Amino acid sequence: METLLLPSNEESLSLAADLLRSGQLVAFPTETVYGLGANALDPDAVLSVFAAKGRPADNPLIVHIHDRSQLNGLCAVPDAALPLMDAFWPGPLTILFEKFPAVPDVVTAGLPTVAVRMPSHPVAAAMLRTCDLPVAAPSANSSGRPSPTLASHVLEDMQGKIPLILDGGPCDVGLESTVLDLCHGAPTILRPGGVTKEMLESVLHTEVLLAGSILRPLKPDEKALSPGMRYKHYAPKGQVTLVEGDAEAVVARLRELYRQEVALGRKSCVLCFSEHMDVLRDCCPHDIGSRNDPREIAHRLFNTLRALDEEGMESVFSEVVPPEGVGLAVMNRLGRAAAFRVIQA
Ligand code: AMP
Ligand code: MG
Repeated sequence: METLLLPSNEESLSLAADLLRSGQLVAFPTETVYGLGANALDPDAVLSVFAAKGRPADNPLIVHIHDRSQLNGLCAVPDAALPLMDAFWPGPLTILFEKFPAVPDVVTAGLPTVAVRMPSHPVAAAMLRTCDLPVAAPSANSSGRPSPTLASHVLEDMQGKIPLILDGGPCDVGLESTVLDLCHGAPTILRPGGVTKEMLESVLHTEVLLAGSILRPLKPDEKALSPGMRYKHYAPKGQVTLVEGDAEAVVARLRELYRQEVALGRKSCVLCFSEHMDVLRDCCPHDIGSRNDPREIAHRLFNTLRALDEEGMESVFSEVVPPEGVGLAVMNRLGRAAAFRVIQA
């Protein structure tokens, strides 16, 4: 199959809508990462999303809408969700709802809940409006690779597998949406993202809990609240190790670890804050962004992880950010890229 990579304009949006209506897949930009969309009400189309990504069938998809009226056909909306939708939709917040039978089981991997989000990216919004369908869409990467934040990343993974990629430039947030569970007692973040715990609490006026496995691996007998947490995600091919501690000690330890690896003949690098690029200039430094700007670090992270593979890095040592605000989402993705391997400096 030939894969078209087109700038988004009226013509390509109308092609995207035709493809989605006829059961085919379209990759499209959102403010979080690029999504791989199918008509959420067409089980065969949704199945082909799993095939194109090599995604395990028990990992459910998020349904994307452009208008709240679309919820009527999909799920029951509790009152608690209303102020959240007022505050954060359109935007990078996914909410779980009790699903109606119209939503095929392949979308939710058989779960009684459906995850829904209204993206704010103008191209995503225009595509959803033009096709006027709920669109089930995971990130548009091959399963296990970092999520795509540029159209060229999607092409790397999906060339020959899907008919169309809409190019909308770099994604703003750069990490997947916050997934919030309101269906099982206290509001709980299953996956942290651009809408932070603090932002949710300021609207809900109650404590928001964090799923246990956000900053550590699942225990062997632990049930994954969010099925995606079971899988190895965001893993570059090289081994990533996180180095924690006070800034000076971390810089010294990064240098020592880098030198050890190079002495053993392994291709190695460090991921460090912009502020440490100069002191670590002999250690193949990769700039993850300023330590004072976790949103910038989030925005760059997946691009950096993809670059490590292209450069053939075998050992990677990274600084960490405090797991607060957007830093929590950064540490969730970085932690998983490192299989939660952490050294104290
Ligand atoms: P991705 O499409 O790669 O952003 O992944 C979507 C993630 O949303 C999945 O990996 C799940 O962890 C989560 N998710 C989607 N639907 C549900 C659901 N019904 N219950 C819990 N988590 C969900
Ligand atoms: Mg994904």
